[in-house]
Amino acid sequence: MTDQLLRDHQHDQKAAAQSHLMPHFTKGAAWQAESLAVIDRGEGCYVWDTDGVEYLDGLAGLFCTNLGHGRSDLTAAAMKQMDRLAFYPTWGTATPPAIQAATMIADRFPGDLDEVFFVSSGSEAVESALKFARLYHVSQGDTERYKVISRNWAYHGTTLGALSVTGIPKFRKHFEPMMWDGVRHVRNTYGDSVPEGTPASELESVKAIEAMILAEGPETVAMISAEPVQNGRGAVVPPVGYWQEVRKLADKYGILLHADEVINAFGRLGHWTGSERFGVVPDMITFAKGVTSAYLPLGGVTIRKPLVEALWESEMGVYMHGSTFGGHPVATAVACANMQAMTDEDINGHVLAHEDGFRARLDSVMAAHDCVKEVRGMGYFYAIELMASRAKGRELDEAQVAALQGGLLGKFVRQARVLIRPDDRGATMLTISPPLVADNTVLDDLVERVSNALTMTDKYLTSH
Ligand code: PLP
Repeated sequence: MTDQLLRDHQHDQKAAAQSHLMPHFTKGAAWQAESLAVIDRGEGCYVWDTDGVEYLDGLAGLFCTNLGHGRSDLTAAAMKQMDRLAFYPTWGTATPPAIQAATMIADRFPGDLDEVFFVSSGSEAVESALKFARLYHVSQGDTERYKVISRNWAYHGTTLGALSVTGIPKFRKHFEPMMWDGVRHVRNTYGDSVPEGTPASELESVKAIEAMILAEGPETVAMISAEPVQNGRGAVVPPVGYWQEVRKLADKYGILLHADEVINAFGRLGHWTGSERFGVVPDMITFAKGVTSAYLPLGGVTIRKPLVEALWESEMGVYMHGSTFGGHPVATAVACANMQAMTDEDINGHVLAHEDGFRARLDSVMAAHDCVKEVRGMGYFYAIELMASRAKGRELDEAQVAALQGGLLGKFVRQARVLIRPDDRGATMLTISPPLVADNTVLDDLVERVSNALTMTDKYLTSH
């Protein structure tokens, strides 16, 4: 495009976006709609579009901007590092910010999860966990192990390895012939429980994992992957004892346990990791998003030190994987500033202090709206699942699902000036995950806007 064309387009950002900028996971028709928002500016928990319309950022970007928008300390950290050393790779050499970020993460993550391998996104982090699991087993002479067990409706990323682990049919469908055949999906913990006093080993979701390990042959399974609180299917909180049982199964059969915490880690559940909240030390934790509050792209996998040492001390001697930008000095400098601010401002304590009140507000929203089936979640991470009428016990019919998922819910939340996520993965839902700095005033405002969107939903459902 010429400079003149670019200038011509600047008067109309929407037209330029619609002409040249390809969206992610967005239908072409939706992108071409007049209502396309161009988000231009952010401050705290709010953002504004190019028309000056204010929205509450009820999804923290995409589970990302944990410290909120407009943090000059994070900007300053990036600028300072760019001036000093804009780039050098983590490939035979190290840089001070990458060293410091790895050290700070090792200090904050549980147990001996002390080795940190940086990449630039969550998908790459999952790829890195996959490849580490495979190489670790091969390095120990366990050459048959390559299979992965993950869970239905779980999202683990889009690159072909991570997509194989992902359990969402519509994302996988057309890529099936291109994916490796080693992933087996089992039921997640949605709706699973045992009577009081019954051990968690009796959970169907635990038994499903063991059954799959035995069916495949334990000697072929390399890794079990799961999110502590699963996003796909809507903020699915595991039953008490689930993670301890999965840890036991991994140990029993010599399988590595991978917690995918791209959403959960860095305060979303009021702890540095969801694993910590559920009292488990997995073999690997993948992270991204909140590690820099998304001020710059950074992801990674933290691995238990003895596993890395075992690989390095083996004949293999090298983790044969890497990327140019992994450990980028500017991104890791921002990660350090982000972790420091989270520590200084006790963001985890803030989330824990507010989660009951947040939940209570959402429960009263449910009580006030007949279209709400269930509110699930914890910390600053919730899903509101919808139905046609709770009072009448009626689920959404096909036409209602098609209309709500086909754009109506998106329209309602936009009209309510709240950016939360209409979600169609396994049910019709709204996902809510505000910046972790949201205080009572913001939470009141958030819940009022969500309530307004649900009033529109109720109105639609009573007339259709
Ligand atoms: N894993 C989980 C649990 C995620 O939620 C995501 C993204 O939302 C990913 C992996 C992929 O991350 P990215 O979009 O940065 O590649």
